[in-house]
Amino acid sequence: MAKIQAIRGMNDILPEQTPVWQYLEARVRGVLQSYGYQEIRMPVVEHTELFRRSIGEVTDIVEKEMYTFDDRNGDSLTLRPEGTAGCVRAAEEHGLLFNQTRRLWYTGPMFRHERPQKGRYRQFHQFGVECFGMDGPDIDAELLILTSRLWQALGLEAHARLEINSIGTAEARAEYRQALVDYLGDYRSDLDPDSQRRLLTNPLRILDSKNTETQRILEKAPSLDEYLDDESREHFEQLTAMLDAAGVPYTVNNRLVRGLDYYGKTVFEWVTDSLGAQGTICAGGRYDGLVEQLGGRPTTAVGFAMGVERLILLLETLELVPPDVNNEADVYVTAMGEAAVSAAFRASEAIRSAMPGRTVVTHCGGGSFKSQMKKADRSGARVAIIIGENEVRDGAVGVKYLREERDQEQVSLDKVGSHLASQFANT
Ligand code: ATP
Ligand code: MG
Repeated sequence: MAKIQAIRGMNDILPEQTPVWQYLEARVRGVLQSYGYQEIRMPVVEHTELFRRSIGEVTDIVEKEMYTFDDRNGDSLTLRPEGTAGCVRAAEEHGLLFNQTRRLWYTGPMFRHERPQKGRYRQFHQFGVECFGMDGPDIDAELLILTSRLWQALGLEAHARLEINSIGTAEARAEYRQALVDYLGDYRSDLDPDSQRRLLTNPLRILDSKNTETQRILEKAPSLDEYLDDESREHFEQLTAMLDAAGVPYTVNNRLVRGLDYYGKTVFEWVTDSLGAQGTICAGGRYDGLVEQLGGRPTTAVGFAMGVERLILLLETLELVPPDVNNEADVYVTAMGEAAVSAAFRASEAIRSAMPGRTVVTHCGGGSFKSQMKKADRSGARVAIIIGENEVRDGAVGVKYLREERDQEQVSLDKVGSHLASQFANT
């Protein structure tokens, strides 16, 4: 019978890969924690309506990327394509937003039916950050300072550049939209088909087009910054001044708009040149209107999401994964014969107690001395503990250093924990 395989674009993350994931996750959590951000966990499924109303009907996500299905009650549900909508829904539902400020983060899988390729999958993972109730540019700046610190923590600071823009208020965008449509109308038939369609539905998204002919036409198009309202302009100037003062480099990209409808004022992307076309590793912006749009009281908000797979690809491509990020054991405890098994468990527990954070693998499954030592070697352990009949009789264990020119030691079973702890103390 044919074997059933995973769904295209949905990846298994295998044991060889999980240490890098855990490393990245720990670094991100550490940075978020150090800024006082709090974790929130939402379901991966929401009512379809939530995404339609927040992301917007005429966006790539809602038009063609959502995994939507009817559940057994006939309700239309959708696997979350992003986390912001669910985070706002949850925060509002539980009264986290009224009269207070919040700095929240979450992580987990997101689902989009896209064409799978390097850095683009149908199930992928994001870390998302959402801040509520702070309307000034200071919190926008904090988010960028925080991400910049994260790149440093990962050794990526030279490989990620920041692009920022202001897309103004809804009114400013409406005025600009008209000017853009008037301009592009003259070149209608030269635009790519997607952009022709967008001319009617979501003209700002044309700025995002990767088509070279469309890009050429856009060179002379009116620029969004000419249409900015005073408040947005001032917000943006203050933000850039704060970034200058904090020493966070950026470039202003007047073409930068985001693919989702809910953004206004600040938008930004962190981009790398080391991943080809899938170069955006973190993207976000301000979305002051969304909470109200979803039925809550007006609450200002700003956030971002970063793509975990892309960050991992980047760390691997640039060989920035620290060498100790692996599945290797520190100690491998062997046991020859039935009586030795109990002694091996005792020794293993003593070693684990004496050396928190180290990996102690106890051999299970029997086998010859030779085959157990082979496994010890393959485990990457520095030390093998050898327990045979003689050791059991003497209440001792053998300590063999697998990676050093060094004589085997005989240590009493009672002392093996403290003995190894002192051997590992400076490594
Ligand atoms: P792109 O322009 O690459 O399609 P996007 O604008 O659709 O990105 P966002 O919705 O802003 O992406 O999501 C934030 C981040 O999540 C992206 O910058 C990227 O790092 C990551 N991401 C988005 N879609 C995918 C995907 N299908 N596979 C892997 N990572 C993704
Ligand atoms: Mg996309």
